[in-house]
Amino acid sequence: MVNSNNFGSLKRIRKGFRRVVETELGEEQVCGSCGELWPTDAEFFNMSGNCMGYECKACSIERKLARVARAASLVKGVGIENGER
Ligand SMILES: [Zn+2]
Repeated sequence: MVNSNNFGSLKRIRKGFRRVVETELGEEQVCGSCGELWPTDAEFFNMSGNCMGYECKACSIERKLARVARAASLVKGVGIENGER
């Protein structure tokens, strides 16, 4: 049996932080944020032109939401500490 979780065949591409693994399903990329393996596919990674994002869509959405939430709390400014009494 072949261990499908074989990280020994990692190959580095371009800038170095993208790691692509050949699995029995084809090429999969390690997400730069969560470290999970996802198929190198527009369904799982954001594509801009010929470039594939280094983090999966779930992570980039999460990051976007966090940014929006932070921006919203900055806009509110005062009033955040209401709960502490
Ligand atoms: Zn991820």
